[in-house]
Amino acid sequence: MLVDLDHFLVSPIFEASRCGFGFHLLHSYWAIALYVLLLFFKRPFQIIGIGLLFHMGTDLIDCLFSYHRCQACVADAPALELLKAISELLGL
Ligand SMILES: [Zn+2]
Repeated sequence: MLVDLDHFLVSPIFEASRCGFGFHLLHSYWAIALYVLLLFFKRPFQIIGIGLLFHMGTDLIDCLFSYHRCQACVADAPALELLKAISELLGL
């Protein structure tokens, strides 16, 4: 998806253990707030907002898997506190 083009803005472009949620520009909390705002506009912006939020959801799930596989690997992830909170909430 085009939203992952923000990976080209960081170095290295790909890092297997990196949690992109909250890290990359288009995956930041400000960007996610913008995607939520898109839901209040008419189509096609509403549909684009839904798609982007689904993408953020799947990236967050990926980060949760990474967190449970290797907590030290995501220790410097901006979303670390969120990952901890979700894990505790779900009892993982
Ligand atoms: Zn992504």
